[in-house]
Amino acid sequence: MFEVIVVGGGHAGCEAAAALARMGLATLMITIDLDRIGEMSCNPAVGGIGKGHLTREIDALGGIQARVTGRAGIQFRMLNRGKGPAVQAPRVQADRELFRIEMQRELGTLESLHLYQGMVAELLVSGGDVTGVRTEDGNQFGARAVVLATGTFLDGLIHIGRHTRPAGRAGDPPSNQLARQMRELGFESGRFKTGTPPRIDGRSVDFSRFEPQHSDPERASISFWEEPRPPGTRPCWVGHTRTRTHEIVLDHEADSPLYSGQIEARGPRYCPSIEDKVIRFPQNPRHQVFLEPEGIHTTELYVNGLSTSMPIGVQLSMLQSVDGLGQARMTKPGYAIEYDYYPPHQLRASLATRLLPSLFLAGQINGTTGYEEAAAQGLVAGINAARQLQGQPPLLLSRAESYIGLLIDDLVTRGTDEPYRMFTSRSEYRLSLRQDNADLRLAGYGHSVGLLPSDLYDRTQRKLERIGEIKACLTDTLLTAEQVNPVLEAWESPAVDQPVRALKILKRPQVPCSAWLEALSAFGHEFNQESFVQVWVECKYDGYLAREERKRLELRRMEGARLPDGIEYAELMTVSLEGREKLDRVRPVNLAQAARIPGLRVSDLGALVIEIARRRSA
Ligand SMILES: Cc1cc2nc3c(=O)[nH]c(=O)nc-3n(C[C@H](O)[C@H](O)[C@H](O)COP(=O)(O)OP(=O)(O)OC[C@H]3O[C@@H](n4cnc5c(N)ncnc54)[C@H](O)[C@@H]3O)c2cc1C
Repeated sequence: MFEVIVVGGGHAGCEAAAALARMGLATLMITIDLDRIGEMSCNPAVGGIGKGHLTREIDALGGIQARVTGRAGIQFRMLNRGKGPAVQAPRVQADRELFRIEMQRELGTLESLHLYQGMVAELLVSGGDVTGVRTEDGNQFGARAVVLATGTFLDGLIHIGRHTRPAGRAGDPPSNQLARQMRELGFESGRFKTGTPPRIDGRSVDFSRFEPQHSDPERASISFWEEPRPPGTRPCWVGHTRTRTHEIVLDHEADSPLYSGQIEARGPRYCPSIEDKVIRFPQNPRHQVFLEPEGIHTTELYVNGLSTSMPIGVQLSMLQSVDGLGQARMTKPGYAIEYDYYPPHQLRASLATRLLPSLFLAGQINGTTGYEEAAAQGLVAGINAARQLQGQPPLLLSRAESYIGLLIDDLVTRGTDEPYRMFTSRSEYRLSLRQDNADLRLAGYGHSVGLLPSDLYDRTQRKLERIGEIKACLTDTLLTAEQVNPVLEAWESPAVDQPVRALKILKRPQVPCSAWLEALSAFGHEFNQESFVQVWVECKYDGYLAREERKRLELRRMEGARLPDGIEYAELMTVSLEGREKLDRVRPVNLAQAARIPGLRVSDLGALVIEIARRRSA
């Protein structure tokens, strides 16, 4: 008997299993193929805007995705370096095989984690809760909680042109029995689809037609705790489709499962197939194509931007129509896959299902897309399954303090009618929720739940102390006009004629952080760069940050108005019928969450406030 079983060895499953084992629970991971634990089903890259924020937060809490990525990375970039700090984010191109190896190595260090290769066919359910699982080979495993992280496998169906075949992803079988049982148990399910582009042999590419995109020289670490240990670096390559590519797509529109009616499920709007891009945006004469290395020891390239489910012959013609790919040899065709997901209003914010209190769902199964979104949920599901068994309240992160909280709140409160992907624009607090301060925001939680070791947590405390010291020093330091004017002039910022407080002059919009760090060092103030950045951002954006803080306080106030768990919404006759149905579907835990339910009328919210007050005073 295990304490917890994690079904699935993808990004959600790995993160859940690692959290559980590190929190001391006897954990069993069951997955279809042990060799494919940590498989990157789509492009071998982690991070990007919004997604990179999630990875940094996972890392800050003590999760494993960022560290594994740093060990397998072959191209490291900080995106949007020239833009504001809220939208800068790390992105790492990984060696696909090495990522898997490093993930498996990381899991192999965990004594409480056991592995079993098998296909879970059924959840064991007794007394209204899950009690274990049965695998297709007839083995049964008991557990006090189960985390389901089965990705795109439930009733998965691959499409390439008119050809379809049941599969979980290329090379893996689908998980059909489990999908059937979930429906029988009463879970509401939906269908989504996603797709992947063809891969090509790099030796058949004319790279002179592409722009190289190299690693940043400083290889910014995606983890707060570990420097990257890349096996080497490789560039990505940027090129474009041509008119001919678009003509091929249009000529074969009827062969595309997306447009022939063969695929009905919704796909990720922000990761469109080339068919979608050409047909929906006919005004664009060309689209970007990124050739991304699959690894350090392979010549295979991932053709990002050319996701497609066209017949194989059409895929090859499309590829060869791209400038520089005239002789391209395809190594794997692209495909689309349809799969079951469970609309996430069926979950509590802990990621436990309402139907079976010890069953947790994490990852693509909840309607999200992406490794980072999956890992974030896996981490939360793992932590909360552990806390449930430890008799502790769940870890519920607020959307005001983290992208992870935002992700889960959006899912359980608003649901999603397309595969959900994280963007910084989803956050009302994006200047405070930066990738550079995720450790300061979240390490305390990671440490208190027993995931982040004390020595790492202490590092964030030292960082906080340094930030305080820098602020104090800059508040006290008066800089003369002779000292600051050369810096201001170099960045075309108006000169000063009086001495100025160092903390005040940091606000100058034109002058970058690095210029002040260098100048202050020349004036005898050596500051730790990581800590100085925090002071600079706080100083430069203090007005905006103060506004976010006011919003955060208002949210906290509304979050404090808790709604009783067993409230019978059907009986609240002062709330409209539609409002009662919406409230019953989401079952918000507090007024703030109720206010975010899409379409809930202000009058219904008002009636709810009165009802809570009436019950309290009764
Ligand atoms: C074709 C394709 C294209 C994609 N395109 C994109 C994209 O463009 N952008 C993007 O961000 N993301 C994309 N993704 C999604 C990305 O791969 C997933 O979001 C991410 O891998 C989800 O992680 P997960 O842990 O939820 O599931 P997965 O990584 O899919 O892992 C599922 C795991 O569960 C195991 N499993 C399944 N059923 C069972 C069972 N019954 N018993 C035991 N084990 C089981 C599997 O073996 C696997 O280990 C794509 C995925 C696919 C397949």
